[in-house]
Amino acid sequence: MNKSSELKKIEEEIAADNALPLQGANLVFGEGSPGAEVVFIGEAPGKNEDEQIRPFVGRAGQLLRQCIRGIGWKEEDVYITNIVKRRPPENRDPLPDEIDAYKSYLTRQLAAIKPKIIVALGRFSMNYFLPEAKISRDHGKVFRFDGSTLLTAGGFLLYPIYHPAAALRSTQMKEEFEKNFKKLPKILEKADELLDGSMPQKGNEEKFAQKELF
Ligand code: URA
Repeated sequence: MNKSSELKKIEEEIAADNALPLQGANLVFGEGSPGAEVVFIGEAPGKNEDEQIRPFVGRAGQLLRQCIRGIGWKEEDVYITNIVKRRPPENRDPLPDEIDAYKSYLTRQLAAIKPKIIVALGRFSMNYFLPEAKISRDHGKVFRFDGSTLLTAGGFLLYPIYHPAAALRSTQMKEEFEKNFKKLPKILEKADELLDGSMPQKGNEEKFAQKELF
């Protein structure tokens, strides 16, 4: 099955899964290219996303999309999604049970796309992959995951950065967010080399924190 049909199938299954929490809200599955080399993962849809049934279309989303275009990429060439695919009431943080419930679908979605880089936007997204990591300490580092993770054939690089909503709340975070963002083309350029090299794999991510590399 090709990537696009695989994603459609996963979306149909998630839509039909009535056991998932947050059933009162719309399903915001994700959008972009099924063949994307880079996937951006946020936390959960907010009010605008729920209304428009698209990820990252509110103020934070505008900043994200502006930064994607700013590094010369097209929004339609990357893929944008969230950990939890329905809006939590009043935009509260997603609960551990909600993250768990949607987990297998995100895993399958990523396995279908097989991106080279996963950009984790904010702590919820980062902690999904690296439960012990701290966004204030670890944003802007590159972590390599091996091929057994998420069923991806060749592994992927995880690049946690601040959530764009956090960047909108503080000048310092915005500068940091933009600075990290601008490194993405270089990281992508080097991704094959980084993924092929003999670098530490899952379980050793801390040793491979490449803060100064790019
Ligand atoms: N914040 C997120 O984490 N995801 C969205 O889709 C919108 C805002």
